[in-house]
Amino acid sequence: MAFKNRNLARRIAKDPCSWCGWKAGRRHAAHIIDEGPERDWNALSLCPNCSTVFDEIVRPKLYKALTKFGAMGLPKSWSKDNKMSDLSE
Ligand SMILES: [Zn+2]
Repeated sequence: MAFKNRNLARRIAKDPCSWCGWKAGRRHAAHIIDEGPERDWNALSLCPNCSTVFDEIVRPKLYKALTKFGAMGLPKSWSKDNKMSDLSE
C-alpha cells in the first residue's frame, strides 16, 4: 500500500532497498503492516522486485508460519498476497 504522506515516503525511499540493498534504481516506501500508521517503524524502502516478493511471498508465509506457531492478532493484510497466487493450503 502506498504512503499518503509524500514527504515521509520520499525520505524513506532515499534509503537503499531494505531487502537487497539495491540503491541504483527506484525504491518506494512500503508499509510493513498495511493497516498500521504511516510511521518510520512501519515502513521499508523497497525496490520493485523486493516489493513484489515482500507482498506476495514473505508476508503470507510469515502469516502462515506465525499462525501455526500460535501467534494471534496478526495483520489481516498479511494473510493473503495482494495480486498473485493463492498460497492457502
Ligand atoms: Zn530490493
